[in-house]
Amino acid sequence: MAKQLLQFCSSCSKWGLNVVCSHCGGSAKAAAPLKWSPEDQRAGIRRKINNVGTEEWLSSLPKI
Ligand SMILES: [Zn+2]
Repeated sequence: MAKQLLQFCSSCSKWGLNVVCSHCGGSAKAAAPLKWSPEDQRAGIRRKINNVGTEEWLSSLPKI
């Protein structure tokens, strides 16, 4: 599921609104990262939903 509406096709470099490119049928990805602000007022709620700080959350983080 695309979290951002605007998608960019990596095959033909066209813009679109679907995760499957309508021009070449290739896979399109989000055009830009999600907007984020350090003054995010919902950050506390988001951390609570993802159980930030627990062992489960820690193990779900990507590894280098
Ligand atoms: Zn394409």
